Amino acid sequence: MNIPFLDLKAPYVELKDELDAAYRRVMESGWYILGEEVQMFESEFAAYCESKHCIGVANGLDALHLIVRAYGIGPGDEVIVPSNTYIATWLAVTHAGATPVPVEPDTRTCNIDPAKIEQAITAKTKAIMVVHLYGQTADMDPVNAIAQKHGLKVIEDCAQAHGARYKGRRAGSLGDAAGFSFYPGKNLGAMGDGGAVTTSDNELCERINVLRNYGSQIKYHNKVAGFNSRLDELQAAFLRVKLAKLDEWNERRRQVAAWYFEKLSHRHVQLPSVPLWCEPVWHLFVIQTHRREKVIKNLDRENIGCLIHYPTPPHLQEAYRYLRIDQGRLPVCERLADEVLSIPMSPQLIESEVERVVNAIVTAEA
Ligand SMILES: *Cc1c(COP(=O)(O)O)cnc(C)c1O
Repeated sequence: MNIPFLDLKAPYVELKDELDAAYRRVMESGWYILGEEVQMFESEFAAYCESKHCIGVANGLDALHLIVRAYGIGPGDEVIVPSNTYIATWLAVTHAGATPVPVEPDTRTCNIDPAKIEQAITAKTKAIMVVHLYGQTADMDPVNAIAQKHGLKVIEDCAQAHGARYKGRRAGSLGDAAGFSFYPGKNLGAMGDGGAVTTSDNELCERINVLRNYGSQIKYHNKVAGFNSRLDELQAAFLRVKLAKLDEWNERRRQVAAWYFEKLSHRHVQLPSVPLWCEPVWHLFVIQTHRREKVIKNLDRENIGCLIHYPTPPHLQEAYRYLRIDQGRLPVCERLADEVLSIPMSPQLIESEVERVVNAIVTAEA
């Protein structure tokens, strides 16, 4: 039996009756864009994130991009971003016309190192965009203190952190505004694309509401040149079903992580490290190893899926050659790109499967 990296059908199988009922409810309603389901999901998800507002949008990239736009950040402005992240974090900044300024991660958590942020701030800096990578929150107290001192906005990329907590508080309420993705593989995933902004800033909430719907609040009155970036009723209905299950599924991910910590021990494998202030939700379980090729080969042979998040950091992508950040300038994230490996992680994994994964890793000898 193979163990896929991620089985996208498994959550549907588990919640089939509720999801099918949600589908029928929306189909029969005759209303498919910006209706009751979206409104209900927005208020349920805002409450879940301990935030005042939630605005549903088309995807995670749009959520982050619209936040940057809504703060009036654009050409000539700079936004601090992690060097170690998925390219969408950077795209949100460059789509608004602003310049991403990368800051290296802490090698143990892989998240932005707050001690390195201040030296990257210039007169042009407008915001710090943190990413709660792999489901672990960034260290927010020092980030918020630096932002306050320099008058910067703090934007959270929560695409991998639905439900994670920092010192007891939920991701999505730890800065000025947060962007979530509901891409099917995320901890809270739709049956297609989806995203949301959470914020407790009333003015920002209103601006995002306008920007996501052509720049209009009153039909056919356009205040600004906006976008079409809306969460649809079907996805909102599916998300409401899955939101009710999110805490349980995150708890099951923590059980899988606990099995890995208990069983996976090898001198060539570095396990993730979890700071005391963080309650992670294990979107990914990422190990570090110098022998990645051998480990991948062994996992392949046992029909076990694995992936690399991410093999090429944003600054080395062709799309960002114009930023002229040469190879070697960000050595920490470049080394991580060579050594990280994501092994199977999902609420549906069982202990015997974890044992098979562990066995395939530890027997990958020289
Ligand atoms: C998935 C992801 C995004 C983008 O979300 P989409 O819904 O695919 O646009 C942004 N940032 C991070 C860190 C992600 O993992």
